[in-house]
Amino acid sequence: MVDMAAIGSAVGSLKAAGDIAYAMLKLHDAKALQEKTIELNSVIIAAQRDAMAAHTAQTDLVAEIRDLKEEITRMKNWEADKARYELADIGAGIVALAIKKAERGSEPFHRICADCATNGKKFYLQPVLSGPYYEKYKCHGCGIELEIHKGNPPQPDWRGEED
Ligand SMILES: [Zn+2]
Repeated sequence: MVDMAAIGSAVGSLKAAGDIAYAMLKLHDAKALQEKTIELNSVIIAAQRDAMAAHTAQTDLVAEIRDLKEEITRMKNWEADKARYELADIGAGIVALAIKKAERGSEPFHRICADCATNGKKFYLQPVLSGPYYEKYKCHGCGIELEIHKGNPPQPDWRGEED
């Protein structure tokens, strides 16, 4: 935020310094001249302090604008990247964003976390466990663990052992 109060104060101090310097031109008494010199110095110091405050505020503003521009660029890049994915059911109604076949190029097939994608972040879903009846994935962005139960293994037939 530009510190308009600091700028206004600095301008006021500089005007006062000009008035004091003008008044000094008319002085012939050494003591009065010394008093006006001290007054002038304090007004100049106040103007410098206010100018520094305004400069600091402007520097902060420039940094904030730079950060916002970087964020806009990041969001635009993310939107373009996100278009390469499609929502996919990875089992038991659990969804993730899977890379589209036409968009893969030389990349291996992979999925990214749907929750993180909704929040504008790209995090891969990493497999933790994988088997014929159960799979588990983890997102290292939000920490979610997705467990997918793919049915039960066939049960042994106990009827044959009763006889
Ligand atoms: Zn996530």
